Amino acid sequence: MTDDEILTSDLGGELGDMIDRLSGHDFDCTCSHSFELGRDTDFVGYIHDGGLADKVGVKYWLYTVCPDCGYQWAWHKIEAILVRAGVLK
Ligand SMILES: [Zn+2]
Repeated sequence: MTDDEILTSDLGGELGDMIDRLSGHDFDCTCSHSFELGRDTDFVGYIHDGGLADKVGVKYWLYTVCPDCGYQWAWHKIEAILVRAGVLK
C-alpha cells in the first residue's frame, strides 16, 4: 500500500503502547525466518477505523513485514503468538 507510514512509539496512545510492547522481541515467521521486531523491521501502518488510536485519536492498522517472505503481520497476530509463547503476558 503506497500510503503506508513508518509508525513509532512517540505517536502515543494505544498505538504507541503496542509498538513499545512488541518492539525488541524476536519473532519467528511461518516461513521460518526470525527477526527482531522494531529493529530488523519497522512498524508500518495506514489509517484504518479498526486499528489502534494514537495520542490524538487517529487510528492506524499496525503491522510489520517479514524481510524474507514479505508476509504482512498485523499487530494482533504478533501479540497473540508472543503471548502464546510466554514472551508477553
Ligand atoms: Zn516470512
